Amino acid sequence: MTVSSKIQILRTVQQVRQWRHQTLINNQSVGFVPTMGALHQGHCSLVAESIKENDKTIVSIFVNPSQFAPHEDLNNYPRTLDRDLEILSTEFRNKPVDAVFVPKMSEMYPNGIVLEVEKQRGTFVTVHGSSEQLEGVTRPQFFRGVATVVTKLLNIVQPTRVYFGQKDAQQCVVIRNLVKDLMIPTEVRVMPTLRESNGLAMSSRNEYLSKEMKDKSSIIYRALRKGEELFNKETKLHHKKSVESKLIISEIADLIQQDPDFEIEYIAVSHPETLEDLGEVKPGLGAVVSCAVKAPKENSNELTRLIDNIILN
Ligand code: AMP
Repeated sequence: MTVSSKIQILRTVQQVRQWRHQTLINNQSVGFVPTMGALHQGHCSLVAESIKENDKTIVSIFVNPSQFAPHEDLNNYPRTLDRDLEILSTEFRNKPVDAVFVPKMSEMYPNGIVLEVEKQRGTFVTVHGSSEQLEGVTRPQFFRGVATVVTKLLNIVQPTRVYFGQKDAQQCVVIRNLVKDLMIPTEVRVMPTLRESNGLAMSSRNEYLSKEMKDKSSIIYRALRKGEELFNKETKLHHKKSVESKLIISEIADLIQQDPDFEIEYIAVSHPETLEDLGEVKPGLGAVVSCAVKAPKENSNELTRLIDNIILN
């Protein structure tokens, strides 16, 4: 770990507080990028933006147990800390990442954490209204876990700005609501989705896919783009005042269903700020078209969930 030893690695809440204290004394702005590791260019784009916009940048790497249900992939979630530190120390040569917070589980959950919600004790944060739909339907405890860990992290780091990816569109809405409702004095910045050259949204979970399946999974973005093309054709070419959501959804579903390897969990057209289901999309008002699609994992009988979204305007 010679290369990565240039970055300051902070392992405790106390160490982060001391680091932050120094930046306050120096009157420096701090950008914060929370991640679960297995870093890819999507994460790096958030880090690059933080470096650009702030005096100091801190990244956290923590696979947060409380957002995983007991049957989900917590134990198998890719953990590549050495590689992640290598990426963070080599990728940003001109102005480096200043610190990486890599807490142990016991640092973030001093009283321990069980995955069964009914057995959990202590303080958890629920953002009602934006957590239950879309991803929340099949992952009912997911955003409670995300909101809880992000609240803890924001309280620890107290950043000027925090960076999230549009790839996780619902997460961005949940976090915006959380920060607003709990009056957290941090600016939330949302960055565009970074994609592989074939259009597949970059994701740590793509590591579960074979090379062939990664190629095939580009069908998800191609399908979303077909939905967008339909919307653009109807509104810009045919000057329709609105397009029914079900037409957009079936345009997307039709393409994905052509490949039997993929199983659609949902395709939804939602209000970009409230995530309310929209019956129709009007130009100017906008909508987020999101989907979750299951694809077979490499060397396994299991499926992994891939999510993606596109904004209509
Ligand atoms: P994760 O490690 O998956 O929790 O992601 C950490 C942050 O990186 C989240 O804000 C994600 O939305 C963001 N992110 C993940 N994939 C991408 C991507 N392909 N493009 C942009 N941001 C991303």
